[in-house]
This record gives sequence, structure tokens and C-alpha cells, in this order.
Amino acid sequence: AGAAPAKQRCLVTGGSGFLGRHLVQQLLDSGRWEVTVFDIRPLEGEERATYLVGDLRKRSDVDAAVEGMDCVFHVATAAPTAHNAHNHELMRAVNVEGTQNVVDACMAAGVPRLVYTSSASVVFDGRDLRGADEGTPYAARPMDYYTHTKIEGEKAALAGNGRGGLATVALRPSGIFGEWDTLTVPTIVRNAQRGKMKYVIGSGRNEMDWTYAGNVAQAHIEAAEALSLGSPLAGKAYFVTNGDPKPF
Ligand code: NAD
Repeated sequence: AGAAPAKQRCLVTGGSGFLGRHLVQQLLDSGRWEVTVFDIRPLEGEERATYLVGDLRKRSDVDAAVEGMDCVFHVATAAPTAHNAHNHELMRAVNVEGTQNVVDACMAAGVPRLVYTSSASVVFDGRDLRGADEGTPYAARPMDYYTHTKIEGEKAALAGNGRGGLATVALRPSGIFGEWDTLTVPTIVRNAQRGKMKYVIGSGRNEMDWTYAGNVAQAHIEAAEALSLGSPLAGKAYFVTNGDPKPF
């Protein structure tokens, strides 16, 4: 038997977060990837990964982290928690300028592939969307400042495609559920406990797409493994979903 093929090296920004932890675990379970996590939080969830504590807003931190990587998964975000949602300066610095730092650092270090975690909300301006696809334009009036910064971040990531040998792709999950979620389901439970869920706005038949975190993570790995300069997905954005949206 021949030697096992060499593992590829990847960096997962935001690897201590909800989606990031799913991605790190799946990358390691695949046996094809060696994983380094870059996060501002020193959460060490996975013994098989290397953990670096750093800040996306510091270019020198990002430069040091991407060095020698075959692929960077840029998952980290300043999430729209109750505490952060109105902090525009933080959102812009992390989600837009931080993403630009990742793109620039990848180009400078000769990293060949960058997978950016975007959001389906980049096309949602509050009106019903039926049959939306990747041809749907960005929302002219995004729902909130966080979404505005996800649009700017996605544009920065895709603009990096083809520059300095870098291939990029953006993935747009809608609502994500699963283990380690600290935002969506816990907020619903908290609101219910406070008696804030007694009323239904509209007919109660509004549809919203929810995707299991493990499926979103799998999409990231498949995208990375299919991505190279000139490949069909390079420079493009893709929605990620479980399938047909179900009423909730
Ligand atoms: P999360 O808050 O659980 O994880 C984000 C991680 O980024 C955290 O571990 C945090 O410490 C890290 N981070 C924040 N600021 C940083 C900085 N300055 N430098 C380094 N690390 C920093 O969020 P999540 O739900 O796992 O989201 C992951 C990605 O998925 C994000 O890009 C988000 O926009 C996208 N997304 C999430 C959802 C959802 O429903 N959760 C839906 C659509 C898109």
C-alpha cells in the first residue's frame, strides 16, 4: 500500500463559534485536512486542531495565521447579538475591514483558496422572495447594519478572486440550527419564557429557510475541494439550504 496522501492545511476563522465548530469537526473527521483555528475567543473545543487567538482587525495577526495554508475558511463574524447589533463601528471593522484583511493576507501569502461565509439575508430587503436564486441582486435596503456589512464582506471576498493567484467563493446559508447555537434558538426560548411570543404577525404562514449546521459545514468543505482558479465556482456566491423551505 502507498503512503496516505498528504493532508491539506486550512485555517478556520471563527472556529470557536457555532458554525465554525461544526466545520472544524467535519474537516478533521474527513481525514483530509489539518486544521488551525483563528478566533478572538480562546475556546479550545477540539483536541485535534491547533488554536490561535487573534483579531481579524489586526492585519499582522491575520498575516501570521494564513501563512502556509492551502485554504482559508473565513467564517468569523461580529454576530448581531443584542449587545453588538447597534455597534456599527465594530460590525464594519470586523465584517468588512476584517474580511479585506483576510483577502489581502491570503494574496500576500500566496494562499490559493478562500471560502467566505456570507448570509442569505444579503438579498432580503423585507419583501417576500419566491424562487430567488443566485441571480437575485443584493438588497437595496438591507434589513439591518449587520446585513449591510455581510454584503460588503461578500463583495470584498469575491473581488479577491483572480488576484495574486487566489480563488474565492462565497456561501450564503439562511437560518442555521444545530448543536452549539448560542443565538437563534436560545433567543426564541428566552422570548417565549418572557411571554413575548403570544402574537403572530401576518397569517402565520410565512416561510423561512433553516439549514442544519452540519449541512452548512459540509457545503464549505465541498466548495473548498472543488475550488481553484478558473473552476466554475470561483468568484461566485451560492445559497446553502436543506431543500424546499418549510412553513414554521
Ligand atoms: P458565532 O458568533 O457563533 O461565531 C463567530 C466567531 O467569530 C466567534 O467565535 C467569535 O469569537 C469570532 N470573532 C468575532 N470577532 C472576531 C474578531 N475580531 N477576530 C477573530 N474572531 C472573531 O457566529 P455563527 O453563527 O457561527 O456565524 C458564522 C458565520 O455564519 C458568520 O459569517 C455569519 O455571518 C454566518 N451566518 C450565520 C447564520 C446563523 O444563523 N447563525 C446565518 C447566516 C449566516
